[in-house]
Amino acid sequence: MSDILTVRNPRNGEFDYEISVIGNDEISALAKKMRAKQKKWLAQGLEYRISVLNKLKEAVANHRDEMIKALSDDTGRLYISVAEVDGISNAIDRWITVARSVSAPETKNSGSMPFIEYRSELIPYAVVGVISPWNFPLTLSLIDALPAMMSGATAIVKPSEVTPRFAGPLKKAIAEVEELNDIIHFIDGDGSTGASLIDHVDIVCFTGSVATGRLVAERAAKNLIPAILELGGKDPAIVLEDADLDRAVTSLLRASIVNTGQACQSVERIYVHKNLYDDFVEKIVEKAKKVELNYPNINSGHIGPIIFEKQADIIREQLDDALAKGAQIHTGGEIEHHGGGLWCRPTVVTNINHEMDIITKETFGPVLPIMSFESDEEAIRLANDTEYGLSGSVYSENMEHANEIAVQIEAGGISINEGSLTGFMHEAEKNSFKLSGLGASRMGPAGYHRFFRKRAIMTNTADAFPIEAFDEKNANYP
Ligand code: NAD
Repeated sequence: MSDILTVRNPRNGEFDYEISVIGNDEISALAKKMRAKQKKWLAQGLEYRISVLNKLKEAVANHRDEMIKALSDDTGRLYISVAEVDGISNAIDRWITVARSVSAPETKNSGSMPFIEYRSELIPYAVVGVISPWNFPLTLSLIDALPAMMSGATAIVKPSEVTPRFAGPLKKAIAEVEELNDIIHFIDGDGSTGASLIDHVDIVCFTGSVATGRLVAERAAKNLIPAILELGGKDPAIVLEDADLDRAVTSLLRASIVNTGQACQSVERIYVHKNLYDDFVEKIVEKAKKVELNYPNINSGHIGPIIFEKQADIIREQLDDALAKGAQIHTGGEIEHHGGGLWCRPTVVTNINHEMDIITKETFGPVLPIMSFESDEEAIRLANDTEYGLSGSVYSENMEHANEIAVQIEAGGISINEGSLTGFMHEAEKNSFKLSGLGASRMGPAGYHRFFRKRAIMTNTADAFPIEAFDEKNANYP
């Protein structure tokens, strides 16, 4: 008998949904079936797989409304749920372009031994495991699974137990595409299911916290399979003296609070040159006060509820720590209770320093700690004073200056004159630095290539190497 988990609705606080936790034996059986099916899936070729994934686009369109509803129930926000569902089609198109750009293996001759011909073939992993978080439940469950399937692999996806509703209608869409039978499966469950999954797949793609990422990496290492980890961040923004102030204010407010700050690439620390600092704080506070909650009407306002109730405690604890150490809150600053949901308005905090949790730990909320700096060196030192290295941003009207600072930030994705650009465009390859992740880029062509191993086929077109060639005395190795 499987365990049942109840799921909380973030808008009304009610536990109004249930999932059955999938156990180890079921995952094992599933992986076995998929492993057998994968051989044919690969043999049928790329154009076949493209045609099947194009059918998935149509099937998703058939279930669009149901998926948006389930995702809105998962997350409490509507606009981003629509974007997540509609983004599937673009994502499939993007991976089609990438996959078609990979040329067939070319046969070459060795430089040192021209009589040896060789070619390197791309061999996909048979079963890819995907473990995803709750902040963009649909996007992050497919971000690895789509290129994996395109490569010729199969995928088992375990969404977060905090936001599992969307998987219901998505499974219905997948079931409409007969050719996807046993090529992709979504399984319900919690951390124990995620941990078991790692024991049955050939590579694991994990998106989530650093703490869980470590456990995933350890388990993958024990199984000697690769783990691609996309983890947390504490992204800095640097507003240089020559920045366009209004642009920086507008962009940084958005980049700090979109999805109620529940985004890995959210800007979580803002460093402003001392000559702009007072005006920056005044303007961003003024703008932040105009941001409205999507409450009571999900169709209005700008930001939704806190999705995972435990996140509200983290935000509260970090704000309390900052206040106890002398910080000043200009707007927001409370966990508000409306209709059973937990809400937090944009919270601008000043008088802060690097002794506070709000500047060292991931907040995952709409909180904007702002500090001033006097020199470029100080800005870079503060930005890099973190164990994370996901992304960052720089604002300047002088592109040379902006680029000079950008390349000194120890992070994988740097936006110039905008915040969190990695959330919008997926073409630019990037790796996570420091504790923010491990493994190949999920963006750009590398996001496709990571699902292949290379197999070298080498042919000796000349005479066989005789054993004499290895005689120690004549030392005449080929
Ligand atoms: P989490 O680490 O708590 O959970 C993520 C997933 O791991 C869930 O599906 C969970 O069930 C599963 N899990 C838990 N224990 C496990 C175990 N021992 N073995 C295998 N799987 C296990 O993360 P979360 O709270 O759902 O997500 C928020 C975190 O995700 C934040 O830190 C955020 O920055 C990060 N995130 C990173 C990116 C990125 O691209 N870098 C994107 C989104 C979110």
